[in-house]
Amino acid sequence: TTFTSLPLDPRILQAIATLNYSTPTPVQQSVIPPALEGKDILARAKTGSGKTAAYLLPILHRLLTSQDGNGSSSGNDGDNGAATATTGTEALILVPTRELADQVYKVIEQYTAFCGKLITAVNIARNISDSIQQSLLLSHPKIVISTPSRAAIHFNTETLSLASLKYLVIDEADLILSYGHENDMQVLSGALPKGIQTFLMSATLTDDVEGLQKLFCRHPFVYKP
Ligand code: AMP
Repeated sequence: TTFTSLPLDPRILQAIATLNYSTPTPVQQSVIPPALEGKDILARAKTGSGKTAAYLLPILHRLLTSQDGNGSSSGNDGDNGAATATTGTEALILVPTRELADQVYKVIEQYTAFCGKLITAVNIARNISDSIQQSLLLSHPKIVISTPSRAAIHFNTETLSLASLKYLVIDEADLILSYGHENDMQVLSGALPKGIQTFLMSATLTDDVEGLQKLFCRHPFVYKP
C-alpha cells in the first residue's frame, strides 16, 4: 500500500510527499480507512509506530472535506442535519504531557502546510499563562491540543466549548491514566456531544484503558498488532 492509494485530500498527500514517507506504517494502514469512514478507533500503538499520523490524517481529511464540500463528510451518525456554523472547536487532542503536545502541534503544522488557514490549531498545554491560554482558545481554533487537566479547567470556566466537537483523540491513554487524570476524563466525557468520533491510542491496553473505552468509544475498530 502507498499513501496515494488512501482516499486522502490531495493537500494532505502533498504534505506527506514533502516528508518523503513512502508507505504508511502498519497502524496507519489498518486504522486510516475505517477512521475515514467515521468509525471509532482503539489502537494499541507505541511511540515510533506512526500513531500520530494514524489519527491526524483522517481527522485533517475530514475537517477539510466538511469545509470544502458543504458538510458532505458522512459516516458519523451524530450528524443530525442541523445547519450549525462550524466556528467552534471540532477536534480535541488530549495528551499526557507538554512534550507530546508540542510534538503533535508540530506534526499538525507539517500535514497542514498546503491547507492555507483552513485548519487552525492551538496548543494550550504549553508553558504559558492562563490568559494566553484563554486568548488562544478565544481565537476559535478548529483543533485544540491539551492535557486533560487544562481542557477540564477551560471547559469549567467556559473558555473551551465542546458543543461543536466532532473528533476526540486520547493519545497515550495509559500514561494519561497513570498521571491521575481519571477525574478530568470523567468531566470531559460528560461534556461531549453525541456521535463524535473517538480515537483511543495506547501503548498498552490495560483494564483502566478498557474503562476509558467504555466511556468514550462506540463499537470501535480495534487495532492490536
Ligand atoms: P509517532 O509514532 O507518531 O510518534 O511517529 C514516529 C516517527 O515516525 C515520527 O518521527 C514520524 O515523523 C515518523 N513517521 C510517521 N509516519 C511515517 C511513515 N509512514 N513513514 C516513515 N516515517 C513515518
